[in-house]
Amino acid sequence: MNALLPTLALAAALWGAPALCAAPVPRVAVDIGHTQAAGGATSARGRAEFEFNRDLAHDLVDALHARGAVVTLINDDGLIPSLAARPEAAGEVDLFVSIHHDSVSESELEPWTWNGEPQTYSDVWQGHSLFVSRDNPDLPRSLLCARSIGARLQHMGFVPTDKNARRRPWADQQLAVHYYDNLVVLYRTALPALLFEAGVIKNRDEELALTDPARRARMADGIATGIMACLSVAPREEGGERP
Ligand SMILES: [Zn+2]
Repeated sequence: MNALLPTLALAAALWGAPALCAAPVPRVAVDIGHTQAAGGATSARGRAEFEFNRDLAHDLVDALHARGAVVTLINDDGLIPSLAARPEAAGEVDLFVSIHHDSVSESELEPWTWNGEPQTYSDVWQGHSLFVSRDNPDLPRSLLCARSIGARLQHMGFVPTDKNARRRPWADQQLAVHYYDNLVVLYRTALPALLFEAGVIKNRDEELALTDPARRARMADGIATGIMACLSVAPREEGGERP
């Protein structure tokens, strides 16, 4: 747990510290992963990943607004035409966060029936994970925010998964952050960016947990706290005035 302490202590100190001067207003883009037409993974009970992503993204927007952030929500209608259009739609923000839910590979799936319909599931894996790209122009900020979110969620009791370590190298094993270098939304951008996988929707128990409104709002609260902490640690330095 020791590696967690500096991040948590820093976040806590910043959170509790009185403002010495007017802090810049953090600006965050929240991207809803996948689309209406291509909904991503399908849950154990047959629900499209896009629907899970949209619900959590809405809660995250609320949580960020409650902390005073300016938020741009991307792909709320599920009609965005391309991956590259997502960071383009973000405009000038301090951080781009893409919201997703995880699945498992075909070979790990088992058949079952839900509501009279044939479905597939795997109860082997569960938990959240985070991704950053080494090809992003601001890897330090991207990684700091991913670690900050990971630390906050674990502090709140959310348990990450290491299932993605089989394919994606660790950026921070303790905080469940991986490198995923060639993800378009993470590298084809001038912005610090990260991708959050909230949990494994092919896991029957975790699917229910992920659809529980109170738990989902709590997770969004943790993500928002992590984002605000990391943006307060190292404000982006650019020309021009910040609001
Ligand atoms: Zn996805």
